Amino acid sequence: MREKVVNLLNRLQKVKSSGRDSWMACCPAHDDKNPSMKIDIKNDKILIKCWSGCGVEDILGAVGMDFSDILPDKPLYHRSSGTAPMLSSADALRIVKYEAAIIMMYGQDLKAGKTVSEDDRQRFVLAVERVGDAMEAAGVKL
Ligand SMILES: [Zn+2]
Repeated sequence: MREKVVNLLNRLQKVKSSGRDSWMACCPAHDDKNPSMKIDIKNDKILIKCWSGCGVEDILGAVGMDFSDILPDKPLYHRSSGTAPMLSSADALRIVKYEAAIIMMYGQDLKAGKTVSEDDRQRFVLAVERVGDAMEAAGVKL
């Protein structure tokens, strides 16, 4: 979070510390001569308030940033689940082990010079995809 707020403060004019995890700066979204924008870090969130009422999106846009630049880094959760990974790590590993065996058999067939059927080839592609899906569902970032 600190890196993100430093990145933001570096783009602002007349930045002054106004306490612990709190700063004042000129608002980049309106003609601001005296710092009238407050930036705070609270509960690991960056809060931005312009006393002239500029929107946070406008303020960020004025310095070439957007919400992703001030939001906390995404937790390692699957994007559709919200609170918890869809798969436990143990379940994901079981899937990976199973699919790895299929990938290995395919590789051995190829190495042995066997003709691989289209079905086998598609199952191989599916196995590779499933490994990625299982890891994602378990919240593993690749
Ligand atoms: Zn403003």
